[in-house]
Amino acid sequence: MRPLILAANWKMHLGPAGAAAFLREFLAGYHPASNREVWFFVPSVSVAAAAAALRDATAVRVGVQNVYWEPKGAFTGETSVPMAVEAGASAALVGHSERRHVFGETDAETGLKVRALLAADVIPVLCVGETLAERERDQTLSVVRRQLAVLDGLDRAALARLVIAYEPVWAIGTGRNATPADAAQVHAAIRTHLGTLGAAGDHVPILYGGSVKPGNAAELIGESEIDGLLVGGASLDPASWLAIVGARSD
Ligand code: PEP
Repeated sequence: MRPLILAANWKMHLGPAGAAAFLREFLAGYHPASNREVWFFVPSVSVAAAAAALRDATAVRVGVQNVYWEPKGAFTGETSVPMAVEAGASAALVGHSERRHVFGETDAETGLKVRALLAADVIPVLCVGETLAERERDQTLSVVRRQLAVLDGLDRAALARLVIAYEPVWAIGTGRNATPADAAQVHAAIRTHLGTLGAAGDHVPILYGGSVKPGNAAELIGESEIDGLLVGGASLDPASWLAIVGARSD
């Protein structure tokens, strides 16, 4: 059974002291639940502080929001996978829409990052999703399949260690979320595509992200195709994040 993953993306918020204070408040109200994991994608400078704060916590994971694929060298401003691991990260976002659309990251670069992470046994959370213009042109599935093509050639063992996040760009930070049924339809198409890459596709958790809030989390995770949530804005307030982490669909 795939675990339910509730993942926070803090974006460019909460430095080391802010992260530690947030996590103290979070842990005071956190009740671990079976088959449910809570992941935190924090700014790279806050990974060590977050990992220290969560050291004794159950069913939690710390990740980074971006990595560079080379292990070291003259790449000013970048964070390598081994550095992220040393700081305490065991997962990383790859191809988040802000990386693609604000920083111009390409599918080819995304593919290099996925492979560097897998080689270091770090879980890549590959983010895919269409823009509003693409959705209106009915290109959602072709865009998502193109973004997933970076997985072509990976072996079964590598595929089994992946997580996918479907995040329609028009829903991120806009207050407009995809309906659970719309998201579930795209998730089902992603699952079918993963199946074409190998049997391990069945084990890959597929998260939904885009304006998730305490008020819509339960409905979204109620869809059997949605294996978890990737949450930006609503993960920055401990009370709202705790409400999402504890959301029940029944
Ligand atoms: C995100 O940053 O991945 C995200 C989904 O943001 P928000 O929840 O704010 O839409």
